[in-house]
Amino acid sequence: MPVDPVCGIELDEELALIHDHDGKKVYFCCSGCRRIFLKKPRKYKNNI
Ligand SMILES: [Zn+2]
Repeated sequence: MPVDPVCGIELDEELALIHDHDGKKVYFCCSGCRRIFLKKPRKYKNNI
């Protein structure tokens, strides 16, 4: 199951927001988490 790297919750792949980061798919629960990730991708990339 994909995990949101910002808030750490497990996501349903079909419902998650998908973002492509350096060729890697990143899943988010909401646009708020995506925005936080995009501000500081280095802080969260180890959680991808
Ligand atoms: Zn989240």
